[in-house]
Amino acid sequence: MLLISCPNCGPRDETEFHYGGQAHVAYPENPAALSDREWAEYLFYRDNTKGAFAERWVHSTGCRQWFNMLRDTVSYEIQSIYRMGEPRPDGGRAGAAAATITSPEGAQK
Ligand SMILES: [Zn+2]
Repeated sequence: MLLISCPNCGPRDETEFHYGGQAHVAYPENPAALSDREWAEYLFYRDNTKGAFAERWVHSTGCRQWFNMLRDTVSYEIQSIYRMGEPRPDGGRAGAAAATITSPEGAQK
């Protein structure tokens, strides 16, 4: 069980929160210009990091506010909690999933 420190409410039990997926996935600047494959990759492809991973959480039974958490996916250690819009504290791969949209077919040509 994690003890999560909400930026607004302080330390609370994990059961008060819901996980919201990978943080820092930027919405495409021009979604209409994306191919179906690129759009699907934006929607569904996420990093599967071993180690420090930036993720979104919402304090659903408390202040109902979203925030970001940097958590180690191996040890579950919470390394940092920071507000939405703030950069990833360790300067890691912000927006990596959106920035790495590639076409596997293109790579094989
Ligand atoms: Zn809260």
